[in-house]
Amino acid sequence: MRTKEEYIKGLAKMKRNIYYDGRLIDRTDDLQKETLDVMGVTFEEALKPENQELCTAISHLTGERINRFNHIHQNKQDLHNKQDMTRMLCQKVGGCIQRCMGIDGTNAIYNVSYEADKANNGATQYHENFKKWLVRFQTDDLVGCCAQTDTKGDRMLRPADQPNPSAYVRIKERLKDGIVVEGCKLHISEASVADEVLVVPTRALRPEDKDYAVAFAVPGDWDGMKQVVTIHNFRKREHYKRGFMPGYTDSYLLFEDCFIPWERVFLAGEHLMGGVCALLFALFHRHSYSGCKPAIGDIILGTAALTAEVNNIQKESHVREKLAEIIMTSELGYAAGYTASDLGKPELYIPGMGFVPFGPGSYIPHSIYCNVGRCLTGEAVYREAEILCDLAGGVVATFPHENDFKNPETGELLLKYTRRNPKMPVEDQANFWRYLGDQLCSATGGIMNLGNYHGGGSPIMEQIAITTQYDIESRKKLVKYLAGMSGGDSDVLANKIREGKK
Ligand SMILES: Cc1cc2nc3c(=O)[nH]c(=O)nc-3n(C[C@H](O)[C@H](O)[C@H](O)COP(=O)(O)OP(=O)(O)OC[C@H]3O[C@@H](n4cnc5c(N)ncnc54)[C@H](O)[C@@H]3O)c2cc1C
Repeated sequence: MRTKEEYIKGLAKMKRNIYYDGRLIDRTDDLQKETLDVMGVTFEEALKPENQELCTAISHLTGERINRFNHIHQNKQDLHNKQDMTRMLCQKVGGCIQRCMGIDGTNAIYNVSYEADKANNGATQYHENFKKWLVRFQTDDLVGCCAQTDTKGDRMLRPADQPNPSAYVRIKERLKDGIVVEGCKLHISEASVADEVLVVPTRALRPEDKDYAVAFAVPGDWDGMKQVVTIHNFRKREHYKRGFMPGYTDSYLLFEDCFIPWERVFLAGEHLMGGVCALLFALFHRHSYSGCKPAIGDIILGTAALTAEVNNIQKESHVREKLAEIIMTSELGYAAGYTASDLGKPELYIPGMGFVPFGPGSYIPHSIYCNVGRCLTGEAVYREAEILCDLAGGVVATFPHENDFKNPETGELLLKYTRRNPKMPVEDQANFWRYLGDQLCSATGGIMNLGNYHGGGSPIMEQIAITTQYDIESRKKLVKYLAGMSGGDSDVLANKIREGKK
């Protein structure tokens, strides 16, 4: 496993293909320092003996110890550990830990490439190629990001019907030694600090959309791919440092006549498997969310409780109600993820077929619980921001800049008028408003809210998954029985519970 420093050294050697605000930048540019510090935590924590169980795993391919973010889930415990590792690391950095896209993308492709080869009766070697790629990914302790979201053009048109044929990333040409792709993936988190970019389809595909059924992996500086990055840093601190200063990036990935050799292609034209790959990445990612969103809930809870304390309103009953609301949302999201892990199997829900064995035996979390947890907690993002806004009052929006507290003409006066709770040092009260201003009032705070709301799929996507996969008919039969209507059945759900199915 690598150290943070070795990871950054690796990035420094990559070709310059990242554009920021009109100019090319290095991956190690100062602007990306905070982002590298967040990713660095995934290396540092994995090397600590006390984190061995949570943050590392034994590769089923090499038998070597690897970073858990590069692991393929072999059993339920792996799913539990991924959820708990995610919660712990997100707590440490005060937000997204950034490396989950890699583990979610690799687990999706691992399963889908196997099934695609099976359906092709051995005419393709996607899975073997993917395993070779994966051994290097694990052994070299690489960071992966996952590029799923396409530009999608007119939302009412499917990929092959779009006026711009590259509104979704597509295979433009098939050659003897590989494929040529064109299109743009957007909002791709941490692509600018990733060693490898995994590309998967966005949505269910029809036979005529087959050129959009494409999955592959390339290094972040691959020829034919440009990145245009937005970098999300908080206001710099000169005098009053935070305990941890995180940063994030998201890239548009522009593929122009980009050649991908067959050994890096894991799906190329199998429209059904393309749709399954989209679903499966989203499913693994929604499971990761059951680790990160409860961590963000932990931070919001601590922030809300401290806001009340600074304002000396902590004993008021409306504060208790708000704290309880945050705890209930966070822990229900965690419980949903825990259940999804515990009911995990090498099985996948396929619309029209129900749960079927899927992949070479690695574990997939239960779909209903992943979707329920993500939707419930994702929709709460703006309610939680509203609670913080309510408890804080206006000070958080207009708190003066650092140097005004250093200026002898204003500093003492500002501190005098910052004091609220007489039992808390006034310098701590000032630092708290600076922190809450970062979270609640900055551009980066706003971007994080959008990511927390839409990341892993907007709530509507989970609602579609839940209602198409949930057995609503059995519930109707039960109520028909209870109401004395024809076609009722008092035992239909009891049978499922006896069989251990939900
Ligand atoms: C900060 C951030 C980080 C992200 N990181 C990643 C990443 O690392 N990798 C990645 O692949 N993606 C990433 N995403 C993308 C995220 O998954 C998408 O934003 C999400 O899936 C929603 O897609 P969209 O943005 O295209 O919105 P849209 O899907 O366009 O949604 C906008 C609205 O249109 C509605 N709508 C869309 N299509 C239809 C339709 N056919 N019928 C009816 N209504 C429709 C939606 O319900 C919604 O109300 C990130 C997003 C953000 C904000």
